[in-house]
Amino acid sequence: MSVLPLPAGPHGHDHHGHDHDHAACVAGAIARFEARCAKSGARLTSLRRRVLEELADSHTPLGAYDIVERLGASGEKPPPMSVYRALDFLVSEGLAHRIESRNAYLVCGREHGPDDVIVFLICEGCGVTAEVASHAIGRDLAWATRAEGFTPRTPVVEIAGTCAKCRAATAQADAATVPAEAAR
Ligand SMILES: [Zn+2]
Ligand SMILES: [Zn+2]
Repeated sequence: MSVLPLPAGPHGHDHHGHDHDHAACVAGAIARFEARCAKSGARLTSLRRRVLEELADSHTPLGAYDIVERLGASGEKPPPMSVYRALDFLVSEGLAHRIESRNAYLVCGREHGPDDVIVFLICEGCGVTAEVASHAIGRDLAWATRAEGFTPRTPVVEIAGTCAKCRAATAQADAATVPAEAAR
């Protein structure tokens, strides 16, 4: 099954938009999880699976305590330390990312090359976070950091802004209230 994030479609929102089949996101994440574990020999514990399901079900990054609460609502509430350990595991297996500025986690649906820089696009309106990977930015950054004699720990860029959906909603609201703007 292909679970790579789709490019922005004709409706102007991407895979991480709000109206799509969440069940497919979750199923895709679990399938990748099983494949990774089969390859690495890592254990597919039920908590790791439940944590990944919660992450895959959300397109806004979730904090560890959000996950504890969500799991508690649907079943046995796990101790936060166990959830942190499961998150560490998912991050180390490349199945999730930590969004440092939010102290939160996001499921990952991609394969990342060693030179890729991951760019997170974090919407300040709705919280939806998309990721794009760029080999070109990665090369440039590696070159620039090396020139400084600096070794980056996290090849990640976090960009806060407004997603396409929120921008469209704002534009509509503006058009409704300020007719002069809409005429341009
Ligand atoms: Zn990723
Ligand atoms: Zn938004």
